[in-house]
Amino acid sequence: MVPAGIIRRNLLSIKTRVSDAAERAKRDPESIQLVAVTKSVGNDEIRTLYDLGVRDFGESRVQQAIQKMESFPDLDIRWHMIGRLQTNKARKVAGNFALLHSLDSVHLAESLERALQSINGTLDALVEVNVSGEPAKAGLVPEDLKTALDTMKEFRHIQIKGLMTMPPLGDNPEVARPHFRRLRELRDELAGAGHDNVRSLSMGMSQDFEMAIEEGADFVRVGTALFIQ
Ligand SMILES: *Cc1c(COP(=O)(O)O)cnc(C)c1O
Repeated sequence: MVPAGIIRRNLLSIKTRVSDAAERAKRDPESIQLVAVTKSVGNDEIRTLYDLGVRDFGESRVQQAIQKMESFPDLDIRWHMIGRLQTNKARKVAGNFALLHSLDSVHLAESLERALQSINGTLDALVEVNVSGEPAKAGLVPEDLKTALDTMKEFRHIQIKGLMTMPPLGDNPEVARPHFRRLRELRDELAGAGHDNVRSLSMGMSQDFEMAIEEGADFVRVGTALFIQ
């Protein structure tokens, strides 16, 4: 278990770094949403973060996320699904999450749409984009984005609110910058092409969230930096 004092220190430092990065980019720090990624920790750490004012939590596995949700039925937490989702788990996501960051195919969107329809629910989602086009990576490649969004626009229950990306991992965080920039450009191009519902950008993790904010991130997904001892 990570001591509360460590989490508090890390959270304060991350918040300062978020604000500083926003100011460098002449952006309102309040417009940037920190999602605390708790996939590597348990309920104690979640409770500590909640008591420190955090309300947005990210998990990458549906089953684990639901277990954690069930531990805190009375807390006003917004749960974010950030990991790869198999279509057979669509039913579990419908109705349980505030935002799905990792919508990575039209096929998944169809499954979610059906699951949501059956419970008469809605779900906000971000489309994951494989900006670098690496074959093993999740997400739609930029060339397929517009057609996919045209299809998904017909869906009434799953609502596309923006884009998400994971840059290639590297020792040098600067490697990520062009990927973040490209995601923002894609968003702007889509807005010009009738997809102005696609607004929010989810990009940036522990090692590169400041750069992501400089390039326009609305959501940063931070795990490791919150719990480092
Ligand atoms: C784990 C994870 C994060 C957080 O990464 P850290 O480097 O621990 O901050 C962010 N996004 C996704 C999709 C993840 O799986």
